[in-house]
Amino acid sequence: MPFVVYADLEAVNPAVRGAETNYAASGSRTVEKQLPCSCGMTLLGADGNIVDTYIYHGIDCIQKLLDKLRIWTKACRCLKQMYRVLRMKPKEKHRMLVNAAHCCICGSEFSKDQQSVSDQPVVHHCHVTGKVYGVAHSQCNAKVRTQAFLPVVFHNLSRV
Ligand SMILES: [Zn+2]
Repeated sequence: MPFVVYADLEAVNPAVRGAETNYAASGSRTVEKQLPCSCGMTLLGADGNIVDTYIYHGIDCIQKLLDKLRIWTKACRCLKQMYRVLRMKPKEKHRMLVNAAHCCICGSEFSKDQQSVSDQPVVHHCHVTGKVYGVAHSQCNAKVRTQAFLPVVFHNLSRV
């Protein structure tokens, strides 16, 4: 899916009272908890522009964030299908297919001999924006599929 979400959570750190150090288990002790209190995220579209922004303050911010991500995921799936069918005049499409010499994906020349279905030239286009990229082998076009998930990049949510 040519969309991406950038997200962040904020937390408050209330002190933990009465926590004793257990030296048999560890030399450290818990002095404060970290409680999520707000979230913010932005959905960017295929063109890099902001599609939507979401900010929420409250102790249920994680649930609200997940709810909003589900809504955005469904919306992005719908947008992804908007230009699934190529919107091009038949004459224009025919002219493009006849004049193409090289596959715009793999770069190899189109065979003038008997072509298998996978070697047939097709118009390669973006299913989100409708933008035409060029002519490609049917097989090459099928391999260049957009991802079927919505990537979410979280601030400080990675393993090192
Ligand atoms: Zn190709």
